[in-house]
Amino acid sequence: MWNSDARVRAAYAEGAGIYRIVPEAVAIPTGIEDLVALVRRAAAAHAVLIPRGAGSGMAGGNVGPGIIVDLSTGFSELSIDPQRRTARAGASVTWAQITEAARPFGLRLPPDPSSGLFATSGGMVSTNAAGPRTVRYGSVRAWVEGLQVVEAGGSVRSVTRGAGSGERFSLTTENRQLIAERFPKTRKNSSGYALDKFAESGDEVDLFIGAEGTLGFITAVQWRLDQIPPDIAGAALGFDDLAAMTEAVPYLVSLKPTALELLDSTLLQFVPEAPRVACLLLVEFERESAAAARGVVGDAVRGLKQTLTHVETAVDRRGLEQLWTVRRLASPALARLPPSRRSLQVIEDGCVPLDALGEYVAGLRAAADQAGIPVAIFGHAGDGHVHVNALPDTTRPGWREALARLFDDVTDLLLRLGGVPSGEHGIGRLRAGVLERFYGAEVMELFRAVKRAYDPLTILNPGVIIPATGWAPLAALKVGDGAAAIPDDIASRLRDVERNAAWATPKLELTHPTPST
Ligand SMILES: Cc1cc2nc3c(=O)[nH]c(=O)nc-3n(C[C@H](O)[C@H](O)[C@H](O)COP(=O)(O)OP(=O)(O)OC[C@H]3O[C@@H](n4cnc5c(N)ncnc54)[C@H](O)[C@@H]3O)c2cc1C
Repeated sequence: MWNSDARVRAAYAEGAGIYRIVPEAVAIPTGIEDLVALVRRAAAAHAVLIPRGAGSGMAGGNVGPGIIVDLSTGFSELSIDPQRRTARAGASVTWAQITEAARPFGLRLPPDPSSGLFATSGGMVSTNAAGPRTVRYGSVRAWVEGLQVVEAGGSVRSVTRGAGSGERFSLTTENRQLIAERFPKTRKNSSGYALDKFAESGDEVDLFIGAEGTLGFITAVQWRLDQIPPDIAGAALGFDDLAAMTEAVPYLVSLKPTALELLDSTLLQFVPEAPRVACLLLVEFERESAAAARGVVGDAVRGLKQTLTHVETAVDRRGLEQLWTVRRLASPALARLPPSRRSLQVIEDGCVPLDALGEYVAGLRAAADQAGIPVAIFGHAGDGHVHVNALPDTTRPGWREALARLFDDVTDLLLRLGGVPSGEHGIGRLRAGVLERFYGAEVMELFRAVKRAYDPLTILNPGVIIPATGWAPLAALKVGDGAAAIPDDIASRLRDVERNAAWATPKLELTHPTPST
């Protein structure tokens, strides 16, 4: 039922993100009955289960000291209903597979995580994943009509939007008031249980979305799909300072873009082909006609002409892809950095109110300078949400302490600006200990009550969202002297997976012995 072989455990010791934690065992259920039997047996033994999809999540919710339950292969059903514009996808089905199956009907799942090639339906729902198009279409939450879940006791249930709040957990009037006061007013949020959305909709499904595997296993998702708009156009807009960029963002958002992405100079410096500007906004508009798409690009450029220092426009999909090349070149450029410069995701997912974006980017740059750690800043400007690759030199004495300082300083900065620590990746183990600072002790107590209601034995991903006793965010790193010992060949394959974003690789393949030469 579960496998305790040392090489198999090693292959599941890392996900994307910073951790290496060798699990006690690994289970790969072949379908729902298998999973139910596993959960019942684990519940009887009080064994800890860690649900997992492709392992591409960055916050450490997909690794841990327990039994990893790999749902990336056994739940692969996929059907499209073009009339109802829905897709029913098993937990293992990726965004790319849904996209490919829906395209012949002129349909798509609008939120578009960059990890869509490998991110599974179970993983996307569990992190409330998002992407560039979220500025127009919201995070995946808005597109989930229903879920099939296996609960901590092993029962199988459907949780459907519109079917109400369920029997497990409810809110009092005082709770609702508290939630309205304490939840941050950012456009995106994947930080803790979405009690604000639950209060608003009264739907239990809103508790499971973004629950990071702490309330139950998601085995299937009923997705809502949308029509693919026929025409597209866009622009790359350069600015010489952050203040001008910050002012441009609300204007561009008011024109209803389908993507509005920021590439900061801290990232552009790694891309020789990039324009030399303080920051670059890539904006995309999808419209019902080519004239409308081109027209709105014209509006964008005209409206900003006083502050722009660089403009390139594109009037069709090919041209737009050309403009976005600069973003695509960033990852390979970062991958070419010397091996000692590791990209560590510790402050990678903060989100702030839109009017605080410039201050946030300036604060990030200052915190990085203070810590002596280069960073590369980019992401979803239209949602006030940017990613940060921290690039410490891991051969330099004191890099861990510097990284810890960066983590603390950026947490303080996000608090000061009314932000949240995660816009789309989740809280995981990494950020569990800071949640209370953002929401306060009373909301944190409500989070604990949600957890108790769904997982009374605390067997589902303990330490994720609700912090473990002795929470230590930068312990158990995959880099440096203290990294847990695993076989060298598996460590090097895990590194290749990370470098090449090859998260779709079946993890058992990493255990195969290297053929002798
Ligand atoms: C190169 C790269 C680019 C990325 N780009 C984006 C992006 O644009 N947008 C974005 O939102 N994210 C992005 N991510 C992060 C990641 O891809 C997403 O969080 C994704 O949704 C995780 O899916 P997964 O299948 O890999 O889940 P995992 O990483 O395996 O798991 C993530 C969390 O979900 C839980 N979980 C997984 N499956 C289930 C299930 N079936 N039932 C219950 N719980 C489950 C796990 O316990 C864990 O807490 C990126 C990651 C990488 C490496």
